[in-house]
Amino acid sequence: MRKTGKNSPKTSSCANTAATQALSKSPEHGQIKAKSRLVPGLTLVATPIGNLGDIATRALAAFAEADLVLCEDTRVSKKLLGAYGMSVRLASYHDHNAERIRPRILSRLRRGDRIVLISDAGTPAIADPGYKLVSACHDEQIAVSTIPGPTALIAALTISGLPTDRFYFGGFLPAKAGARRAALEALKSLVSTLVHYETPRRLAATLADAAEILPGRSAVVGRELTKLHEEVRRGTLAELQAHYAAAGPCRGEVVLLIGPPAKPDPAMTETAIDDALTAALDCGTLRDAVQSVARATGVARNQVYRRALRLVDKVSGDV
Ligand code: SAM
Repeated sequence: MRKTGKNSPKTSSCANTAATQALSKSPEHGQIKAKSRLVPGLTLVATPIGNLGDIATRALAAFAEADLVLCEDTRVSKKLLGAYGMSVRLASYHDHNAERIRPRILSRLRRGDRIVLISDAGTPAIADPGYKLVSACHDEQIAVSTIPGPTALIAALTISGLPTDRFYFGGFLPAKAGARRAALEALKSLVSTLVHYETPRRLAATLADAAEILPGRSAVVGRELTKLHEEVRRGTLAELQAHYAAAGPCRGEVVLLIGPPAKPDPAMTETAIDDALTAALDCGTLRDAVQSVARATGVARNQVYRRALRLVDKVSGDV
């Protein structure tokens, strides 16, 4: 069972003052009062992905009330919290020390501490450390709560104009071309918008691979979202590849979104598929013909393959 209890009054009252100041400093907060009662346990708090205005009032109150704020890089988070006029107790929790310090964090949580987890930017545990700590808390019946907010993948998806009803988030694609191409191949038949984080340096190469493996798909590059130089560039994968290859490596932070495969055209009759196949078989192998017709029509490959076999059988029968 989770224990309740301890709090450091000194930390709490100092930090609370800082939070109140931070809130009252911002006229846009108006009459909104952050009624956060940070309960003992772990609270995941989202922070801005670039625009300091994108912080929840409840997040500021949580920082003020926490016994400890875990972050990735204390320098980055000190700067962020300083911008809100807050000085809180920070400790780093990142990929290189997580295994080692997790038992200590859990022991503090068992004693009833209120611990907040943030990342350098956005939502913790999304392409950032956190999920193992959350999982360990659940295993030990330690309360886990959230103060949600910005995350680059949702910001990018919602303004992309690509379908949002089904999407797949794959974090960062592999850096090595072979592994990256294999990852894209594995996603080929998924009827979802594909969302990946990408580095500006690799963007053009990834677009080139994607254009080859997922030809004709619509795509969007969301860059520097919520910041001064926010950019949302739309086109086919080939168009975007041509743009970024010509422009050279872009700056800033990037989300790459790829639309789902085209829906099969309901007007595509068997006769129309056969016509397309006959033309394709005239200038290529059966395999190539099936692939190009399936891509062009959006009809399932196995269905096109069955039609192709019939056509080939018919032709050999005629002979
Ligand atoms: N936890 C973060 C979140 O919730 O989005 C993601 C952390 S991940 C280490 C950092 C990556 O997120 C960047 O390399 C970039 O792909 C994406 N990203 C973060 N901020 C962004 C922004 N303002 N615009 C576009 N992409 C962003």
